[in-house]
Amino acid sequence: MKVIEPEEGEVIFDIELDENLQKENLRIAEENKKILREKGIKAVDVMGSVGAGKTSLIERMVERLDVKVAVINGDLTTTIDADRLKTKGVETVQINTGKECHLDANLVRKALSSLDLDSIDLILIENVGNLICPAEFPLGAELRIVVVSAAESPWAVSKHPYIFLDADMVAINKVDVAKLVGSDPTKMKEDVLSFNPSAEVFLTNCVTGEGVDELVNSLKSKLGL
Ligand code: MG
Ligand code: ZN
Repeated sequence: MKVIEPEEGEVIFDIELDENLQKENLRIAEENKKILREKGIKAVDVMGSVGAGKTSLIERMVERLDVKVAVINGDLTTTIDADRLKTKGVETVQINTGKECHLDANLVRKALSSLDLDSIDLILIENVGNLICPAEFPLGAELRIVVVSAAESPWAVSKHPYIFLDADMVAINKVDVAKLVGSDPTKMKEDVLSFNPSAEVFLTNCVTGEGVDELVNSLKSKLGL
């Protein structure tokens, strides 16, 4: 099979600019972390494809957590998810990224400045639906969760190694439809662990709540909530 790959040092985009961008993002992410720590707030970055179930998982979390939660929703142009979460009685902030396919630390910092940080214990950040580049843009959250749906593809995990390398927790969601689309949640779990043996992996159905209690209990103990 012929595979085309860039040569070492081959410039596709402006790689130097890209590196500076990531360095600057990391610097702001550290600032966000400091702001959150000073206010005693925990933050979680929820990443995953469009339709994987990020918003649904956040809804289920909000229902099960008895601390003051705010949600930051990243999306290109709509407020659909933030509107959904508002009905759960939590404060929500929408970030519309326009053409950007991921949240970055600078946008999150802007969102933080629009929240009353003295009245919040936990911030759940729903990243833009994307299994690729959010991995490269830490936001200052202390925990990263990836939601991947069994309905996406049997290879949704194995084709996207980077996002799982840095994940603390992974939800293999929509396990109920796995058979219909020929994917195997247990195999997807093995794929996650092959990239990142220390990730905690949960098989979930965010409609029925299957597997969600286990995930939320683990989240609570990881964050000391
Ligand atoms: Mg969503
Ligand atoms: Zn992106």
